[in-house]
Amino acid sequence: MAAAERIVIENCAIATVDADDTEYASGHVVLAGDRIESVGAGPAPEGLTDVGRRIDATGHLATPGLVNTHHHFYQWLTRGLATDHNLFDWLVALYPTWARLDEDMVRVAAQGSLAMMARGGVTTAMDHHYVYPRGTGDLSGAIIRAARETGVRFTLARGSMDRGESDGGLPPDFAVESLDDALAATEATVREHHDSSFGAMTQVAVAPCSPFSVSTELMRRGAELARSLGVRLHTHGSETVEEEKFCHELFGMGPTDYFESTGWLGEDVWMAHCVHMNDSDIAAFARTGTGVAHCPSSNARLAAGIARVPDLLRAGVPVGLGVDGTASNESGELHTELRNALLVNRLGPHRESALTARQALRLGTYGGAQVLGRAGEIGSLEPGKLADLVLWRLDTLAHASIADPVAALVLGAAAPVTASFVGGRQIVADGRLLHVDEEAVARATRAEARRLARIAGQA
Ligand SMILES: [Zn+2]
Repeated sequence: MAAAERIVIENCAIATVDADDTEYASGHVVLAGDRIESVGAGPAPEGLTDVGRRIDATGHLATPGLVNTHHHFYQWLTRGLATDHNLFDWLVALYPTWARLDEDMVRVAAQGSLAMMARGGVTTAMDHHYVYPRGTGDLSGAIIRAARETGVRFTLARGSMDRGESDGGLPPDFAVESLDDALAATEATVREHHDSSFGAMTQVAVAPCSPFSVSTELMRRGAELARSLGVRLHTHGSETVEEEKFCHELFGMGPTDYFESTGWLGEDVWMAHCVHMNDSDIAAFARTGTGVAHCPSSNARLAAGIARVPDLLRAGVPVGLGVDGTASNESGELHTELRNALLVNRLGPHRESALTARQALRLGTYGGAQVLGRAGEIGSLEPGKLADLVLWRLDTLAHASIADPVAALVLGAAAPVTASFVGGRQIVADGRLLHVDEEAVARATRAEARRLARIAGQA
């Protein structure tokens, strides 16, 4: 077998986010094929053969690619609506519009969401898609194809809702699937698209939406299905006080106890938000290895509260970051969540000791990899891991006067991405996507957002 072609990156600061938080003020990273071959101080080793490209990254910080652990791509078409609502009121306002989605809309919304994240340094994306109106085509396939076009690594969390209003749920009956349809379609999606191999570009998780939109039976059987297929489990949990009240009224217990009773705690589970957790809830997550997708901007936008991230980390709970859907985080970017995670948590009880800049970077990289069950493949710059890496430009007006590159990245303005690689393949150059036409995507998202508004208005 021929040796893999190498890409040599030199003269940049490097934050490896390895177990010791090793950093280099000026160092090198060598990529060979889809893997990282070496990382270290100073120039790359001499005598390397098959060097296809040499990048002088002076003025840059190299980090692992960002890992997004919670998102709803379809919401790209309903941004900026219901702007002054809490979660339940916001959902009730938007469900009727979302129920009118079709395959073209879902495809274009996915392209927009993916493009926005990828050009901001995301190398592993996820989409929790749970709106499957009847007769709307192959929505999961459309989303997965959009991720392949963009070039990011991708997890589709195949969502579902079967608890409509007539069963005490929040969504209208016409927006939900039947229990059997949801389970059968989820299983088919896993069998068709999930790749469990090292370096997989597409994975699928089983992801009923939330306690207030899913029957207990679907939660239980969804967990059994995921474990029988060997895939991960994802859902929303403990997002708001209203959800907590809902769980007490309907199930006679809080969300974490409800999840445990339905098989939804475990090291193969990660949950979005986890804002309203008491000490015993946090202990249950730590004991079972259940992961958390922290979404600080969305939690602030919907006035949900502040997740106890410092307490979760101290207890040993894996925590990653999530954009969440862009109807509750209109920016659609993940690198801004590094800063927001730090700022929001410092407004909580731990104040200035809540999170450091380096912990925030870890949440967005290694923490995300842990939560997705892929810490052995991605999330840190270490030899043998996949070559998912971002070069952030820090020598322009926005950052040049900040000496500490990690502080510049996390606390400063959103840093431009000079280059982003996924498995050694470049997907961003000088802030532009290489495999997707951004202007064409922008035009299509505008047209589809208008079409959705028009159809929903006629309903
Ligand atoms: Zn969400």
